[in-house]
Amino acid sequence: MKKFAIAIHGGAETVKPSELDKKKEEAYRQGLADALKEGYDVLEKGGSALDAVEAAVNSMERNPAFNAGRGASLTQRGETEFDAAIMDGNTLRVGAVGSVRYVQHPISLAKVILQKCKHCLLVGTGAEEFALANNLPLKGPEYFVTTEKKEAWLDKQLERAEKKRMPGSMTDTVGAVALDINGNLAAATSTGGLTDQMKGRVGDTPIIGGGTFATNEVCAVSCTGEGESIMRGALAHEVYAMMKYAGNSLQAATDKAIELHADKLQGDRGILSMDAAGRAAFGFNTGFMKRGYWAADEEPFVALWESEKLKKPVKQKEMEK
Ligand code: ASP
Repeated sequence: MKKFAIAIHGGAETVKPSELDKKKEEAYRQGLADALKEGYDVLEKGGSALDAVEAAVNSMERNPAFNAGRGASLTQRGETEFDAAIMDGNTLRVGAVGSVRYVQHPISLAKVILQKCKHCLLVGTGAEEFALANNLPLKGPEYFVTTEKKEAWLDKQLERAEKKRMPGSMTDTVGAVALDINGNLAAATSTGGLTDQMKGRVGDTPIIGGGTFATNEVCAVSCTGEGESIMRGALAHEVYAMMKYAGNSLQAATDKAIELHADKLQGDRGILSMDAAGRAAFGFNTGFMKRGYWAADEEPFVALWESEKLKKPVKQKEMEK
């Protein structure tokens, strides 16, 4: 059987086990298992890495447990705004969007840009018009804004008014990297950004080399965490550079990128990467990163906490749903 593999993340953030309720933990694990399966199915049928990362990310964009598409966090104005990027490691083509509002699947819009547009990155209404022209489904705020995120937004407004700190809300970007049977790598990242971000703020996700990067010869990378820190460090490209020019292994390059300029840049960081052999590495400084990996002929696994081993199998019951 030819080698193929997919790895995903549903965001990294600083959180302690006591701060995460059991229902939510279960929803994350189930959501990761579902997304892994969507991506794996594409690869198993001989589909491309590009289609596989789109399918896995689409699954998490549909799932309100994650900060992408439906259930995304809200800006200061109480609105959802999405960033997304996808990169084909074979052709080095990219498609990216920033600050789009009504597009149901921002990663699919990014993919259509990759395939059909002479530009790499479209933002705001221009990106939405391109989605419309390409018959991508659009949705209104009632689809994207969930009660949970509305409450988190209201808490923030109270915090601002009372100048007191509230516990952080659970938000975070989703991403996927994959290797297909033809040896092609791809990376995709999709996000609702940071809770309470300014209108028009764009994070690292659609910045190529910042939050997303892929080349067949070396690796595919998708980042999560504080976008300002990640884009200033060009962390996705750093993983590539540390492997290509300094001869680091995938895991070493990923770990070093997590530490890079940490004194100056600070912030939560999570990096998912995959090399040309389909091995995955996860690096994070948060103690918590929603993540999963499934390679051909192996058991799938999902994990949340740092202490969880990479090989933790997903319960069969979860995968069948
Ligand atoms: N990196 C994303 C951003 O800054 C947010 C996240 O990963 O939580 O927009």
